[in-house]
Amino acid sequence: MEGSSSARVLVSTTLVIRTRTRNGAFKDGDLLVSKEGIRIVPQNEVETPPPIKPSDNQLNLADIDTIKVIGKGNGGIVQLVQHKWTGQFFALKVIQMNIEESYRKQIAQELKINKSARCPYVVVCYQSFYDNGVISIVLEYMDGGSLADFLKKVKKIPEPYLAAICKQVLKGLLYLHHEKHIIHRDLKPSNLLVNHRGEVKITDFGVSAILASTSGQANTYVGTYNYMSPERISGGEYGSKSDIWSLGILLLECATGHFPFSPPEQGEGWNSVYELMEAIVDQPPPCAPSDQFSREFCSFISACAQKDPKDRQRAHELMKHPFISMYEDLNVDLAAYFTDAGSPLATF
Ligand code: ATP
Ligand code: MG
Repeated sequence: MEGSSSARVLVSTTLVIRTRTRNGAFKDGDLLVSKEGIRIVPQNEVETPPPIKPSDNQLNLADIDTIKVIGKGNGGIVQLVQHKWTGQFFALKVIQMNIEESYRKQIAQELKINKSARCPYVVVCYQSFYDNGVISIVLEYMDGGSLADFLKKVKKIPEPYLAAICKQVLKGLLYLHHEKHIIHRDLKPSNLLVNHRGEVKITDFGVSAILASTSGQANTYVGTYNYMSPERISGGEYGSKSDIWSLGILLLECATGHFPFSPPEQGEGWNSVYELMEAIVDQPPPCAPSDQFSREFCSFISACAQKDPKDRQRAHELMKHPFISMYEDLNVDLAAYFTDAGSPLATF
């Protein structure tokens, strides 16, 4: 029919895409194609999308590119990933497990608590997903890796740096214990992350509870007992002071360069994990050698590593301990200290 054919309008658009911008959008002349659609932008306009905030709830696994695997733990792997549209880096923790229906609610609850934490001394959890037996957790990327990685390089951490590190960890614990009423349960050098700005942040609280709750049926998770408090090992009730014990043990390890509980045979490892657990429960608490360390440091360690949790100090009390402030005048530069050791992961 003549009328309808004359009314037919054919619109054809051919888009030749030339450049991919830093954030994953495409640009050709004045035309910008991004997740938000097509837009005209003047040639000289520098386009910087706002960074994703933890409260945004807009992260999607399809929008991130994997760059490399940066770590492996007992529970899964950690990858460095980049968000396609903003160029932001994140760490993606992937835990594979077949979870029974009854555990799902508990895990969802733990992840919700994880995500609700807002504190500069706690690693930000941006989002988490559960799909087909795989839990994916998008975390703030800490480009210096963990204190365990760092300790491997430097062997020992001198007291002034340790005091500055400890102050940040205590601020994180103060938040978790006194504001959120959360016990970390797995405080250890690999769960303290550092970055090129000299920041130290606590990570993986709640994750150990998830893994432990599913370990009975999955039977795959064997965490470390090295930093576990005596009352927890002996199956008693435990609370936030259990984390304080772990803090004392890990600080002593960082200061001396070796794990404080040594096996009975010199140079040998522990024959079994039960022997180590027995030592933690039965042996006197470890202490810092007074001929190598300041009186303040020795006293700080003994304020943490007391067998009876009642004798241990809480995070807010430890914040006032003289060890925390004794090196303040030195203004130690943790940023330079972490960076000079040469982070293997640094991407910035
Ligand atoms: P476990 O599984 O026994 O708790 P772990 O803490 O070493 O041991 P993961 O939590 O999986 O295991 O972490 C493995 C490694 O990945 C860490 O030691 C650290 O080097 C790296 N890593 C973890 N989270 C981040 C992050 N947010 N940013 C940068 N690196 C990270
Ligand atoms: Mg960890």
